[in-house]
Amino acid sequence: MTPEWDLVVIGGGPGGMTAAQYGARANLKTLVIEEMAPGGAVLLISDMENYPGFPEPVNGYEFSDKMRGQTENFGAQFQSATATGLRKEGDIYTVETTDGEYTAYTVVLSTGAKHKHLGVPGEEEFSGRGVSYCATCDGPFFKNKKMLVVGGGDSACDEASYLANLTDRVVMIHRRDRFRAQKVLADRVKANPSIDVRFNHTLERIEGEGKVNKVVLKRTDTGETYEEEMDAVFVFIGAIPQTQLANDLAKDEGGYLITDQNMETSSTGLFVVGDVRSTPFRQVVVACGEGAVAAHVAAARIDDIKGEAYGAV
Ligand code: NAP
Repeated sequence: MTPEWDLVVIGGGPGGMTAAQYGARANLKTLVIEEMAPGGAVLLISDMENYPGFPEPVNGYEFSDKMRGQTENFGAQFQSATATGLRKEGDIYTVETTDGEYTAYTVVLSTGAKHKHLGVPGEEEFSGRGVSYCATCDGPFFKNKKMLVVGGGDSACDEASYLANLTDRVVMIHRRDRFRAQKVLADRVKANPSIDVRFNHTLERIEGEGKVNKVVLKRTDTGETYEEEMDAVFVFIGAIPQTQLANDLAKDEGGYLITDQNMETSSTGLFVVGDVRSTPFRQVVVACGEGAVAAHVAAARIDDIKGEAYGAV
């Protein structure tokens, strides 16, 4: 059987779109399946300042939109659908989606990761009513109000800095005595007079009437708990990799999918790139590099299947 596609990319974030670009440029008939707008997590970045070639920060939506246009210009196609299953028969993969099935010689899985929840009382109740996981989306609703940021990684530091442009009353708590974030981001937060950083703190409870009014915080070094008025709570405590389509593949202790240096999994022709992949550094530029490698090796795998291989990759 000849599949309909050479390469199907599941997930249209920067890693997935780069794989599609390199695939299409290598003359692979390439499809990107994306359930939302292409861009993935980048869509939520207001100012991306660490992508090479952009000396001024670039808006994540504009960046994604340009990348999508570029991907289409190279000949890849996009399909709006949710992938629900993935199976392999012989050399052919079948991607099951809400829009039907798509067959391909090779698949790039770039399904990303979704934000983690704290699981404290009030979090779900006030979600969308003061509790948020996206500063760019919801921060402007709380202009000049008092906002709490929870977390100590790059996301928390980046987003706290963003929120501090909207108000001079950002409280940032982290459960440890120092940030996990890259030093440049952590130092920026610590130097910002609008951000009140409190280490060794956890959020115990979120309270309010119809919307967030108050939080209960705990000092982990003394055990003391105290209440504080608060208008919004932004939670940035990491992510859960979206591995549902490949749950039988090897994962690291964080649940991220393990590949070899070619981004290939133990299933020949199935590649993993971006935030769903086990890597020491999750960055847009890293995801793009991974996408390029995956597409390059995918092309070689297809040559293998067709008996046109030039040599081993
Ligand atoms: P992360 O690096 O996993 O950091 C999550 C933070 O939340 C950690 O400080 C962690 O504390 C804390 N945390 C986790 N569970 C918690 C809980 N239940 N209660 C309280 N705190 C909790 O996640 P991230 O910041 O979202 O970043 C994800 C990836 O994207 C990283 O690889 C990061 O480098 C990348 N990223 C990069 C940029 C950038 O370059 N500008 C921006 C955003 C994200 P512990 O430290 O105690 O574990």
